[in-house]
Amino acid sequence: MPDHDVIVIGAGFAGLYQLHRLRESGFDVRVIEAGDDVGGTWYWNRYPGARCDIESIEYSYSFDEDLQQEWVWTERFAAQPELLRYLHHVADRFDLRKDIVLGTRVLRLEWDEPATQWTVHTDDGATCTSRFVIAATGNLSMPAEPGFAGLEDFDGELYRTSNWPHEGVDLTGRRVGVVGTGSSGLQTVTAVAPVVGELTVFQRTPCFSAPAHNRPIAEELAEAKTRYREIREAARTAPDGYDCRVGTGLLVETQPAEVEKELDRRWGEGGLCLGWAYADVMTDLRANEAVAEYFRNRIRTIVKDPAVAEKLCPTTYPIFSKRMCVDTGYYEVYNRDNVSLVDLTEEPIERITPSGIVAGGREHTLDVIVLATGFDAMTGALNAIEIQSGDRTLREAWADGPRTYLGLMSAGFPNLFTVTGPQSPSVLSNMVTSIEQHVGWISRALEHLREQGLTRMEAAPENEDAWVTTTNDLANLTLFPQAASWYMGANVPGKERVFMPFVGGVGLYKQIADGVEAGCYHGFRFG
Ligand code: FAD
Repeated sequence: MPDHDVIVIGAGFAGLYQLHRLRESGFDVRVIEAGDDVGGTWYWNRYPGARCDIESIEYSYSFDEDLQQEWVWTERFAAQPELLRYLHHVADRFDLRKDIVLGTRVLRLEWDEPATQWTVHTDDGATCTSRFVIAATGNLSMPAEPGFAGLEDFDGELYRTSNWPHEGVDLTGRRVGVVGTGSSGLQTVTAVAPVVGELTVFQRTPCFSAPAHNRPIAEELAEAKTRYREIREAARTAPDGYDCRVGTGLLVETQPAEVEKELDRRWGEGGLCLGWAYADVMTDLRANEAVAEYFRNRIRTIVKDPAVAEKLCPTTYPIFSKRMCVDTGYYEVYNRDNVSLVDLTEEPIERITPSGIVAGGREHTLDVIVLATGFDAMTGALNAIEIQSGDRTLREAWADGPRTYLGLMSAGFPNLFTVTGPQSPSVLSNMVTSIEQHVGWISRALEHLREQGLTRMEAAPENEDAWVTTTNDLANLTLFPQAASWYMGANVPGKERVFMPFVGGVGLYKQIADGVEAGCYHGFRFG
């Protein structure tokens, strides 16, 4: 008999709930987490300004009514310390810590077919076995290496937003360079600009960002708590996993003045819902360009120097085909005297020197470099583990891009589940909604196996083929693949360019996954 029924890898939002859910069902579960505490994303990413961009009321668990009634969110978009406090509270409230091994990284998984179990090897040299493994390893948990020449030569201080020192960093009066203008870079830049002496922002690709209009939410929260059931139900069936009032009209059939009014209204509300004003924005380039130009005009209005404003205006990809950002005064930062922008498309980074960064032949002298250079998204953390089944590793099976059935299992790798795996809505959604949906599905599958006296479950290769084709075909109907985004693996040299998330939306995906479950797990094989 294996040592455990289930080993869960990772103790973020996904791993914590997966442990609770399966333990409630009577399974013996052990969680293994590389970090020295629980929290996942919110344990590692402690950089200044880190906060969620889905509203806290929705970016939270729904599985326990008492939990959602008792927890008090203070802001519309909670900051990292509050999110981490919440996850600690969940771990303590449900007594999860006793089944979590911290500070331990899973290096290798080996499928033992005769014994129908996985052998799990960890970096402390130990091994243990389990019937099932659930990878709750995170979509954005493996930092991408920027590969700058001379990085190790820098004499100043070097920090990564994805692994920020727990004790914080005093940047007061210092010459700071931030490399990267995705969500983490932009939040860092906004937070540190008023504190540092000089700030140089190194931008490869500008982002589209909407205002957060962040604020205290005591009254909103009290009201939300009276109708949490309704809010959660709407989230589970919405395309994006939260309640955005998705527009059903076509922008191209709407009068420009009307469009302007609607976009103004959504800009005034703030947040990611700006992207959901019209149904054709991700399928019709004309509609997309109209919204993109609206954003660019906003940037031109905010940023006083027209040359800097143009550099901040994205023009090389459709809006929303890269993850949109949400900010609290990001563009305004460029009106400060102590902030300058280096456009890396004109002046590429050549190397890091002991005293700074050389870009376009100019040396920028720096005391501190902050790398906000993103993640090897969706497959990075999984591929970092040597997952061996028969004569193949998962890395080999996914050499031409990830291959899954429903983003839940991969053919040839029995009894291994992925929470919010590639080819599920995952990073295109409110992740907590998608995590809860997957954890529920996986847990019910394990209960089904137990009830039937079965010990083995695997995706059928033909259903996996069909799902891979479906997800690619759906993506190709949209403008998403037109951007060199991390959704496409384009930020990691050598990574296969395949659009990884399922674009059909959370609601549709749930219907499909529920249908498969109701149809006796059609497309899965049992033994
Ligand atoms: P994670 O929180 O990433 O946890 C995975 C854990 O697995 C990590 O702690 C990691 O250490 C551990 N792990 C990985 N590999 C191993 C291994 N081999 N051995 C042991 N442990 C391992 N999503 C949203 O929906 N809304 C937001 O506003 C939002 N904001 C974000 C802001 C930032 C800065 C980042 C980086 C991501 C954000 N996300 C957001 C995405 C976020 O990752 C998810 O919302 C959510 O936290 C994912 O939870 P998870 O448990 O799946 O993964």
